[in-house]
Amino acid sequence: MKRELIVAIDGPSGSGKSTLSRLLAAALNYINIDTGAMYRSVGLAAHRGAIDPADTQALAELCARLTIEFVRNGAVERVLLNGEDVSEAIRTPEMSLMASRVSACLAVRDAMGRLQREMGNRGGVVLEGRDIGTVVFPQAEVKFFLLASAAERGRRRFEELRAKGLQVDLQQTIAEVEQRDAADCNRQHAPLLQADDALAIDTTTMTIEQVLQEMLVIVNKRRLQGCEA
Ligand code: C5P
Repeated sequence: MKRELIVAIDGPSGSGKSTLSRLLAAALNYINIDTGAMYRSVGLAAHRGAIDPADTQALAELCARLTIEFVRNGAVERVLLNGEDVSEAIRTPEMSLMASRVSACLAVRDAMGRLQREMGNRGGVVLEGRDIGTVVFPQAEVKFFLLASAAERGRRRFEELRAKGLQVDLQQTIAEVEQRDAADCNRQHAPLLQADDALAIDTTTMTIEQVLQEMLVIVNKRRLQGCEA
């Protein structure tokens, strides 16, 4: 039986993963899975439950209890944590840091990885994160690794937060992005890493449209070959 592709997009914060994953999925009529939103949701649940992100046991119990779902309302994607829409609440700088901290816990990674495989294993999906091509779906048919300079990634995150009306400082945002990347790259479990067979794209000076077109050429070429379920 034939199935559609599994596309993995990994890379550091602000490299363009979320935007491109969404656009690529829409262009292909695939499901888009923002795995960062899942770690952010765990971070929010831990924060609300006053759980120390270093408390592995408490985090494991938390993950066993919670549900995370993605729902689409037209073009708008929402994240539900235990049925509650947390799409906005998980996007604060504080929750970025919480997500990075809870994501270092193996029990959290195992629980999220399991969910991601359930959501994606039938194909026709674009998953974006840090470890999709290396750990969650090493067998993904297409793997991208997006990059951009730290200054550019910080600037993008700054604009994004400012557009939401948050009071942020550019230098501080760049520092936070670098701090989070260092934590994601140096953690013991599933660190941010380019898979050997991933195609790296440096988006620093590219427009979103240019990156999207480059990705579409590669995916469509691979799609022609088809793949077995
Ligand atoms: O991509 P986003 O900025 O929303 O991710 C938030 C945090 O979640 C990252 O800094 C990283 O620590 C964690 N994450 C992860 N593995 C993924 C996706 C996100 O560890 N696949």
